[in-house]
Amino acid sequence: MKAVQMFAVKDLRVNEVEKPCPAPDEVLLKIYAVGVCGSDIPRINKKGPHVLPIIPGHEFAGQVVGLGEAVTGWSIGDKATVAPLIPCKRCVCCKGGLYSLCEDYKYYGSRNDGAFAEYLAVKSENMIKLDEKIPYDWGATVDPAANAIHAFIRGNITEKDSLTVFGMGGIGLFAIQYGKAIGIKTIIAVDINDQKLEAAKDCGADYIVNSRREDAVVRIRELTAGEGTSAVVEMSGSPIAQVQAVLAASKMGRIVYLGISNSELTYPKEAVDRILRGQLSVIGSWNSFSSPFPGREWLEAASFMAQGKLNPDKIITHRLGLEEVPEVFRKIDQEPFYFNKIIFYPHGK
Ligand SMILES: [Zn+2]
Ligand SMILES: [Zn+2]
Repeated sequence: MKAVQMFAVKDLRVNEVEKPCPAPDEVLLKIYAVGVCGSDIPRINKKGPHVLPIIPGHEFAGQVVGLGEAVTGWSIGDKATVAPLIPCKRCVCCKGGLYSLCEDYKYYGSRNDGAFAEYLAVKSENMIKLDEKIPYDWGATVDPAANAIHAFIRGNITEKDSLTVFGMGGIGLFAIQYGKAIGIKTIIAVDINDQKLEAAKDCGADYIVNSRREDAVVRIRELTAGEGTSAVVEMSGSPIAQVQAVLAASKMGRIVYLGISNSELTYPKEAVDRILRGQLSVIGSWNSFSSPFPGREWLEAASFMAQGKLNPDKIITHRLGLEEVPEVFRKIDQEPFYFNKIIFYPHGK
């Protein structure tokens, strides 16, 4: 079969490799759509994965074409997406149902071969059934949607909240759509890119703020009668936005950090005061899993898509063939290249 293998940082090659054979607890999936995750970009262009060579790609959907002998509940022809984490189920976190925090996990596309390929064998317990109505490329975006929902669960964000979302990548745009779907009345989107902010408006944001052109905190307070929003989700990982997220929260507000920064964060005095005197909660959100595995995040994302409450077409910007994977990662690395969710179709569109 055709697959994209990574041999070193910035070294991706489209190769002919052996088609996988499902183990007893696995299903063979014919991969119809696979997305680029924000985490794939540093993994492929900068840091490298945990093992080499590897087939990257962990946001995907496909059709069941083979069944291991111990698999039950699945039939040939079923449509599915796959939670990429393989938790150890032995560590303290796994035993407490906190699979996102597993200390000894495997992962399709970073520690095990992934889905930049025509086929992949996956554990049946990682699979989420997709409604017939859901196109495969939508199915490939259940992962970022589940990440957004996990942040809502972490921050206990409900329809009673007002919400600011910083960072309009795929997860940020799903957060806007999900916030609207659960009935939040006021949602403010913040980014530094006008094209991404237009997408946010299309996804349902009530207000958009370009924080490169105006002071996001001043604007958010203006829009909320001086109070700020009761929930703030920070998806960009930028330390500037992490500080602004605190300053944008109302008293008793919850700030959820999801965007990965890999850098230090210094709070100015005003932010420290606000955390103390406003009794703010600053909360971390990691990945998308809960108990029972893979979690309500995945079921809800898939079911909201089936009901048309989440619309990945508003987030997907590129639809390409598998052979274009190496060139896309080169472009991301070397050129000014606007994109949001990029989807590859290993068997054609
Ligand atoms: Zn991912
Ligand atoms: Zn574990």
